[in-house]
Amino acid sequence: MALRQIRYDGDDILRKKCKEVKEMSERTLTLIQDMFDTMYDADGVGLAAPQVGVLKRIVVIDVDGETPYVLVNPVIVEKEGQQTGDEGCLSLPGKVAVVTRPNRVVCKCLNADMEEVTIEGEGLLARAICHEVDHLEGILYKDVASEPLRDVEYPEDSEGEGGSR
Ligand code: ZN
Repeated sequence: MALRQIRYDGDDILRKKCKEVKEMSERTLTLIQDMFDTMYDADGVGLAAPQVGVLKRIVVIDVDGETPYVLVNPVIVEKEGQQTGDEGCLSLPGKVAVVTRPNRVVCKCLNADMEEVTIEGEGLLARAICHEVDHLEGILYKDVASEPLRDVEYPEDSEGEGGSR
């Protein structure tokens, strides 16, 4: 297990557009594994490569702790409905804000074997896909939030709920 340093808001790399992955390499497979390790270690539900300083179109997501997704070169091809709720980000720790996202999305991408896959997500999975794909364009959720960021408030004796992306 290897953890990578998470980049925080204010770091220029979070504002750059990421490059497509043309072929899978050992180095990129290691990056993907490290991204999962880093995401789980930080109690996140999603992480995009630029958040660990790599400008590649790679995202990892696991919204329920048992369904890991690797999205290489993801493109959202369908959006349906809308959901409005709190969203957070591992690059803006301790903050949340209300963001409206589609309630369902269909995303075409490649998996770690560079095979074409289609991922359909509803609810939190749809929100996570939108949030992470935005990262690949240099967009942070605070840019699309409908209100200013506020501090996370966890009830005492609780680990909190939801997750950061
Ligand atoms: Zn994020």
